[in-house]
Amino acid sequence: MRRLAREITGLELPAVEKISQAQAEDPFHILIATILSARTQDATTDAASARLFRAARTPRTMARLPVKTIERLIYPVSFYRHKARYVKACCEQLVSRYGGRVPSTLEELVALPGVGRKTATLVLILGFRSLNHICVDTHVHRISNRLGWVATTSPEDTEQALYRATARPWWPYINLYLVTWGQNVCRPVYPRCGDCVLCRDCPRIGV
Ligand code: SF4
Repeated sequence: MRRLAREITGLELPAVEKISQAQAEDPFHILIATILSARTQDATTDAASARLFRAARTPRTMARLPVKTIERLIYPVSFYRHKARYVKACCEQLVSRYGGRVPSTLEELVALPGVGRKTATLVLILGFRSLNHICVDTHVHRISNRLGWVATTSPEDTEQALYRATARPWWPYINLYLVTWGQNVCRPVYPRCGDCVLCRDCPRIGV
C-alpha cells in the first residue's frame, strides 16, 4: 500500500474521487456520481455528473426534474434510463425520509433506490470520512485476488475478506489506490506487470 501511495501520485484519479474533491466531499454529489459511474467510463461519468449538477444541485431540485430530463442530461452513461429513474426515486426518498440530507449509515444508504454496497461504502468513505469501511468494486476485487490478499469469487466476499486481510488504517484508501492502479497498470486485460512496482511480491494469481 505504501508503494502504491507513492506510485499513484500524478496518475489520473477515478471520476468519483475527482468529483468528491471538486465538490468539497459533499455526500449528495458523491452519491449521485457513484450511481452514474456503474459500468461507465470515467470521462463519461464526469461529464454527465457535471450536466446533471448544473441543472439541479440539491435532492429537492433534482427530485423535481422529470425522468426524461434526467435521461437527457446523463446520456450516454450506461443504463441511463434505469439510472435516471433511480436518481429521481433516490432524491425523492432523501427529501421525504431524510429532510433532503444523505443518511450516514450503511443500512440507510443501501435501502435507497439504486444504491448497492459499493455506492454506500464509497459515500461513507468520501462523504462522511468513515475509517470503518472498504469499498470494493471490480478493480479492487480483481487486484486483491491477483495479489493473493484474498481468494474470493464475488466483490461482496472480497470486502469481508479484506477486512480480515488488511490493516485497518488502510481501509479508506484501498479503493482509491487499487482503482487508480487498475485503470492505469493492473488492467483487466493485459496488465502491465513489467511496469508494476508490486511485481516482485505479486504472485499474479489468475493472470
Ligand atoms: S504484478 Fe501484474 S498482476 Fe500483480 S499487481 Fe502488478 S500489474 Fe497486477
